[in-house]
Amino acid sequence: MSGGHAPDDAAARRAVSPVIAYPNETLPTSNLPALQKARMGLEMIGEITVPPRQARCFSVPAGHFFRILSTEGPQVGDLNLWNADDLDERFYSGKTRALHGSHVTTGDRLWSSFPHFRPMATITHDTLDWYGIDEFGGSVHDVIGTRCDPYTNKLLSGDEYHHCCHSNLTDALAEHAGLAWRDAERHVHDVMNVFMCTGFSCDTGQYFMKASPVRPGDYMEFFAEINLLGGLSACPGGDCGTTHSSRDPACYPLMVEVFAPLNPPENWHPPAVNAYLPPPIDLRK
Ligand SMILES: [Zn+2]
Repeated sequence: MSGGHAPDDAAARRAVSPVIAYPNETLPTSNLPALQKARMGLEMIGEITVPPRQARCFSVPAGHFFRILSTEGPQVGDLNLWNADDLDERFYSGKTRALHGSHVTTGDRLWSSFPHFRPMATITHDTLDWYGIDEFGGSVHDVIGTRCDPYTNKLLSGDEYHHCCHSNLTDALAEHAGLAWRDAERHVHDVMNVFMCTGFSCDTGQYFMKASPVRPGDYMEFFAEINLLGGLSACPGGDCGTTHSSRDPACYPLMVEVFAPLNPPENWHPPAVNAYLPPPIDLRK
């Protein structure tokens, strides 16, 4: 029997209601009101410009805020986050997606890899939160893309382009941490796509991108829950409205600003690592 024939009850099977895989009502609270109160009084302690088609690293102490800003033109940023004291603890795009959805905004948190698995940062402001979900199913700030990279580009087109976000982030981390390129590369991970407008096509389910609605003056603001090392690449796709991994799109710089709150958020403590401990293997029954 060949596969692919719909059974008699296909319509009934498709009509089954979905359930939310990870209901998040029990997530530890982000204490967002206290963070938003603290962000009313901020002192800027550092700023860094990320040139087009390049990446830079930046440090944010726990309890501080940072902003990623569009300055000169519509531009997408690929963000990596590490525990500044332990590069093995890194942003976990997939589980952040499972917990908060395909795109993130104010109040959502960026979670770290196993076994640490705790909030690394909380989003405290997003000037693009008006965008919502458009008629194509697109939205901004996704955690579904990976990062543009030279390997996929080589596979699909045979071209070699060396300023993909993967390469840029590796360059920046290698320089910042004093690592050999290949050693830095293994720490680069799937990103949060800041300002990028993406979704999955309704007919084929393929990952799509479209020109970002970001404009100069827009920004996204984060609260650092732990000591953070960030890496930000100004994607060679520019606003990602046409192509990426090429020299063609118009690209603009991005700015990162780091702020100390004049008054720390009330009742805030750096989150502990996840409490789960695996039992010894012979006790797992
Ligand atoms: Zn990119």
